[in-house]
Amino acid sequence: MLIIVLKEFSINRCFIVLVILLLPVFVYSSTVFDLRCNYKINPLGLGDLQPRLSWKLKADDPDDRSVFQLAYQIQVSESRDKLQEEQSLVWDSGKVRLDQSIQVVYDGEVLQAKTKYFWRVKVWDNKSQEAIWSEVNSWEMGLIYSQNWLADWISPKLEEKEKAYNPCPLLRRTFSSKSDLAKARLYISSKGLYEAYINGNKVGDEYFTPGWTAYNKRLQYQVFDVTDMIGEGDQVAGIRLADGWFRGQFDSYDRWNENYGQKLALLFQLELTYEDGTTELVLSDDQWHCSTGAIRMSGLYDGELFDESQEKKGWKKSKYDDSNWKKVEVDKGANAKDILVASEGLPVKKMELISAKKLIRTPQGDTVIDMGQNMVGWMELTIQTKPGDVLTLLHAEVLDKDGNFYEDNLRTADQKVTYKISTDGLKTLHPNHTFHGFRYVKLSGFNGPINLNNFKGTVLYSEMPRTGYFSCSNEKINQLQSNIIWGQKGNFLDVPMDCPQRDERLGWTGDAQVFCATACFNFEAINFYTKWLQDLKLEQLENGSIPWVVPDVLHRNGSAGWGDAATIIPWTLYMLYGDKDLLTRQYDSMKAWLSYLQELAGDDLIVGKGFHFGDWNSYRHPTDWNNKPGYTDKDLIATAFFAYSTSICEKTAKVLGKEKDALQFTLLLKQIKTAFQKEFITGSGRLSSHTQTAYVLALRFGLIPEEKKDAAVEYLVANIIERKVHLSTGFLGTPHLCHVLSEHGYTDLAYELLLQESFPSWLYPINKGATTIWERWDGIKPDGSFQDVKANSFNHYAYGAIGEWMYGVITGIKADEVIPAYKRFKIEPQLSHSLKEAKASFSSPYGVIRSEWVKQTDQFTILIEVPANTSAEIILPFGKLERLLENGKDLSQVEGILLKENVGAGSRLELGSGIYHFEMKLSE
Ligand code: BGC
Repeated sequence: MLIIVLKEFSINRCFIVLVILLLPVFVYSSTVFDLRCNYKINPLGLGDLQPRLSWKLKADDPDDRSVFQLAYQIQVSESRDKLQEEQSLVWDSGKVRLDQSIQVVYDGEVLQAKTKYFWRVKVWDNKSQEAIWSEVNSWEMGLIYSQNWLADWISPKLEEKEKAYNPCPLLRRTFSSKSDLAKARLYISSKGLYEAYINGNKVGDEYFTPGWTAYNKRLQYQVFDVTDMIGEGDQVAGIRLADGWFRGQFDSYDRWNENYGQKLALLFQLELTYEDGTTELVLSDDQWHCSTGAIRMSGLYDGELFDESQEKKGWKKSKYDDSNWKKVEVDKGANAKDILVASEGLPVKKMELISAKKLIRTPQGDTVIDMGQNMVGWMELTIQTKPGDVLTLLHAEVLDKDGNFYEDNLRTADQKVTYKISTDGLKTLHPNHTFHGFRYVKLSGFNGPINLNNFKGTVLYSEMPRTGYFSCSNEKINQLQSNIIWGQKGNFLDVPMDCPQRDERLGWTGDAQVFCATACFNFEAINFYTKWLQDLKLEQLENGSIPWVVPDVLHRNGSAGWGDAATIIPWTLYMLYGDKDLLTRQYDSMKAWLSYLQELAGDDLIVGKGFHFGDWNSYRHPTDWNNKPGYTDKDLIATAFFAYSTSICEKTAKVLGKEKDALQFTLLLKQIKTAFQKEFITGSGRLSSHTQTAYVLALRFGLIPEEKKDAAVEYLVANIIERKVHLSTGFLGTPHLCHVLSEHGYTDLAYELLLQESFPSWLYPINKGATTIWERWDGIKPDGSFQDVKANSFNHYAYGAIGEWMYGVITGIKADEVIPAYKRFKIEPQLSHSLKEAKASFSSPYGVIRSEWVKQTDQFTILIEVPANTSAEIILPFGKLERLLENGKDLSQVEGILLKENVGAGSRLELGSGIYHFEMKLSE
């Protein structure tokens, strides 16, 4: 066609035609992608009647800059094919002239249980000539109301011992299905854990279902699409139940079945829909049979015992004869159906498989596998067995200084898996309803040489999408980042746990609070926390106090810095994800915690009553326990958190438009500050507790009057220097320490602390071979001996809270203080001579943000990526605009720079979306 055109026209004309023909190549275009419904992709089993929809926008050509959304239109229909037909839409938002592309609340017809909805969004941006349609995504509603549950709770009628482990019950029921099955959905929950099979195949790829919630107030159910698992004719459903978090021995004390109940139970509702629209139900009812099988005991702390001789071979298949199985007990009442909720959180899955690294023969003669990484999950082994084999695996985190297998820090947790074998054959074995925290595995009962290739570490954690990556020119810092990531993987197993190995593994509120911001850089953790916050709210006491752990199995409550999880986490999540809905849901709980603190504080507004953990695990002299150089007055800490939570409630009230509340909080905050200053600050700006944590909290929470700030900072700095540049902070002070230094002109000192290698420091454990964050600064002491076995976890994420500083100060990626969700953000790297380069990327709710800098003697370069529909303020620490080039060009010729000015020794730029390569010569 082009040739014909060329023949017919003169050269000039030809040129014009060519330009027209090639024009589409240069025409700007963008794509709408990553559609989410309540942060999930095409979720199944939603319980939310007003789901929130989000999407991302990106320029197709990475060189296009400053792309903004001008308007959107969302359409929702029950049929994918009818999205075009106006009358078939359950919601058409119409053209909404807003740049909002996250958290758009569904506002259409009332959503119906079990119904699938298809949606798409059309976006107008500031560059494309035409609006862009997204692809079609969907969500499907769950059972929503308790009357949608037609199944009854059933419990196995088995004789069980009290205060002891019992074999895992098996339940099975046959049913039949016709040939023209169009769709099958399984709605399922249990008291205890369940693993479901249909015709011998595992339903879904989730573990530890239905997850852990405040079971007597809220119990999750899951929904699975099982259409492909069901054929024509005889079918069978088989379920295995296990104690999990529900019963057995779960918490540090020797209590059995005291948390939620004695009896395991199943709720099962399978809905078969045929092509002609008719449906059939298979329910948990009196048609089920039960027995026990090969798993003779299973406990989260203690592990599992598998006895092959007890296996009911073929029980998961329809042909199996279960005539000698027992009946089940049916609970006909509405009992516990009203507390069923759709799963909001993230399912626990097999997220990684790691290879065994080394086989060790310890001085004590044990055969031990080193996985090379402290991990959480279980071992999967493929092995040739023979009758009579008893294979045992013990799991531990460390070897002692002589190289022997060390289990003392597990306290009473056995972490033991035993396989009693009764047949010959090649088998793949792993436990099912337990997890261990371990790097080392001690083997016994294995005959013949051990082949490491047959041992794989299955890493289990909540399926959080990875969002953050950080690395720099210092390998030890990179190892620290890796340890932080592994600490999160290991402890984000359905609830934010303190540790994954000893007889604890509880949702400690303080730990969750200090790590939240870092966690949300590393992984998209919003759904994980949202689920947990529901439990926190429900477990909150009437007087507003918050339990130490959530779900609450300890029945102790009220510590400052721990209970403040109630305010700090929702606010952090709001700022990072823009989730106003979550703030609305948590607001009463936030206020209630505040009034609890107020009650404790009384008229003088000093929180001097109640039990408080204080700055847990702050530095103590390794040999002299009376000398507590890191110890900070608990009243000071509690009052500081009282002020901090008040400031959060003030900001929250403003966001939610509750002006009257906001005014009250403003006044209260002022009064607390005055009280704090009177009680804890001397005339010279010295704090009554002359510790790092005291200064850090007071400065970070804005409690020091302007005229005394410099003095307080100097006291803090002097304290650090007196300790030969060492920290002395514990759980509460540590997350804020480096921030306070870098906010007050002491970035170099913050770097020195970060790079400090002797105890106490972040890098000390790394020199001791740590692959996760430790509970204590000196879990392994300089002489190789261990800290107190009562609390010496080698996988405790709290001190990993430094991660946020690494992303936010070294590479400088910071959320805006007012506009949430990185719609607007800052990149303000603060450099140090000790690092030559650093880079971070972060998948924000709007898309990927990047900051990557390299500093050589004569040149500084920085790559910055700003996602579409956002803008960023860039603050470069040195180099005036005149010396700055972008992609080799003078800034005046660069597209996307919305504003630029010199500030002090450096410069400030305002950038629209795009990828920018800035460079500046340093030697002139
Ligand atoms: C946990 C901590 C927790 C603490 C309370 C410990 O046993 O492991 O992480 O915050 O108790 O002080």
